[in-house]
Amino acid sequence: MNTSAVAEPNFSPIEVIACPYCGELNESTYVHCRQCDTLLLTDAARAVVLPQASQRSGCVLVYAAFLGGTAVALVTAAIAAHDASAGWTLLLAAFEALVAFGLWRHRNWARFTVIVMQCLNVLFGLILIATGSLEGIALAAIGATIAYWFYANDQFFH
Ligand SMILES: [Zn+2]
Repeated sequence: MNTSAVAEPNFSPIEVIACPYCGELNESTYVHCRQCDTLLLTDAARAVVLPQASQRSGCVLVYAAFLGGTAVALVTAAIAAHDASAGWTLLLAAFEALVAFGLWRHRNWARFTVIVMQCLNVLFGLILIATGSLEGIALAAIGATIAYWFYANDQFFH
């Protein structure tokens, strides 16, 4: 008979948080420090302050739909083109469709991809400005706005 099958005591690790004032370790369920009575910002309190991690963002869904629409337009253009560029256009369409799918599912890798893509747009916009093209200003501004939004709103992604 296997004696190791005896049920082990069900230990759940107690979460502790350090008091921001005196450093005393308190259980995360405490509201006030047991040593100095300073108000502790518990995980529960933080959870109330921060939006739910599972929340879906309308902005992300709109951007995903935009990328998906761009992918469809690229496929249409590739079919119409019938030349050597069609392969690259289809590849770009597949990439945009993949990122659109990732955004729709609120995946972090899609978030990072958008940030990188938009940073490249900012760089490209700055190059245009440097060469005297004012269109670069709009490109850089839009790219910076979208990149910053995706950088700052990580709570929607997982
Ligand atoms: Zn304390």
